[in-house]
Amino acid sequence: MGVTLDLKRPAPRPDVGAAAPAAPPNLSGMTRGQMQAALVEAGAVAPDKARMRTNQIWRWIHNFGVTNFSRMTDIAKDSRAVLEQSFALGRPEVVERQVSRDGTRKWLIRFAPGVEAETVFIPGVGRAGALCVSSQVGCTLNCTFCHTGTQPLVRNLTAAEIMAQVQIARDDLGEWPSPAGERQLSNIVFMGMGEPLYNLDQVSDAIEIISDNEGTAISRRRITISTSGVVPEIPRAGEITQAMLAISLHATNDTLRDELVPLNRRYPIAELLAAIRAYPGLSNARRVTFEYVMLKGVNDSPAEAKALVALLKGIPAKINLIPFNPWPGSPYACSDWGTIEAFAAIINRAGYASPIRTPRGRDILAACGQLKSESEKVRASERRKVEKAL
Ligand code: SAH
Ligand code: SF4
Repeated sequence: MGVTLDLKRPAPRPDVGAAAPAAPPNLSGMTRGQMQAALVEAGAVAPDKARMRTNQIWRWIHNFGVTNFSRMTDIAKDSRAVLEQSFALGRPEVVERQVSRDGTRKWLIRFAPGVEAETVFIPGVGRAGALCVSSQVGCTLNCTFCHTGTQPLVRNLTAAEIMAQVQIARDDLGEWPSPAGERQLSNIVFMGMGEPLYNLDQVSDAIEIISDNEGTAISRRRITISTSGVVPEIPRAGEITQAMLAISLHATNDTLRDELVPLNRRYPIAELLAAIRAYPGLSNARRVTFEYVMLKGVNDSPAEAKALVALLKGIPAKINLIPFNPWPGSPYACSDWGTIEAFAAIINRAGYASPIRTPRGRDILAACGQLKSESEKVRASERRKVEKAL
């Protein structure tokens, strides 16, 4: 089983592959503070009016979803001309869009030539519906069960590109201006392509924008970051994002986790659990989600279910058992349904509410992180992955 983590390689850094996309910068990816500074610097607004102008422009972008400066009718024409020259506001191209019968939607977005990632909206999970966003194109890590792990990192996505995923979903859901009452999009999960803690600054800026009271206005406790266990970044992630945490655990001992999640060789389970215990704001109302992919004959024994329960003792936790989604050439199979149920029963008995949902059959347990996968399969897999985390 080809474990390919090269420990001689320097640690991947948050700025890995972060080739700056071509100017002009998109205003959608700027926090209020960044936007204000950028507007003044570009000469688009007078310094003494900067705060007020920022509020106006913010509202147009994040409340009304405008993609054209000419729609900003309360901004003087000459200021709009300067804005136009200095900044972008448009959306990247949606190269593929799929909608399933139950309302799940998937977009394949091309941010630049050869830079494509997937975003999936899943209705009926979280408070109303969750958007699964990507933080990188490809991944530097090589988890052996993950299709994204077979793809090299193309680059980190910028905050604007993360916001574009949210905006494209809102375009498609018809959620402009931000609805005053019930919304379809209520939760955000960083469970698409990539490792969000290796792109934490951009992820954090996007979270600041998404959680702002005006605009998308999804509170930080309805935003979840999923990590494979980048231990040194976990405290900072908690501090600067105050988002909910999900941990891709997948094994209860270091020997197996070293193999499944090679990053474990650098940050073993004990260190990971210590970082999780220190995560700010944990309580029974704000639990960490532990993701555990069910791999036939690899990590799915009753003994491992018991070990999992023992390992998480004392941590306010939710457990999300994810049936493995095979992909072409993948070295694993999904555990049998009975095995998953037996595993879940042990976890249930330990007091964790239904870590899997009612069986839906093998046909719906499929691709994860696979671009252009069959939509029915993606629908089911994304739903399973996300719904247990919320
Ligand atoms: N890099 C981050 C977030 C993206 S992966 C992380 O690893 O947490 C989101 C989740 O999908 C992770 O729990 C990951 O382990 C899981 N996953 C990846 N490939 C999968 C597959 N083929 N079947 C089921 N789950 C998978
Ligand atoms: Fe990267 Fe997450 Fe896939 Fe591991 S599971 S290869 S960290 S995207």
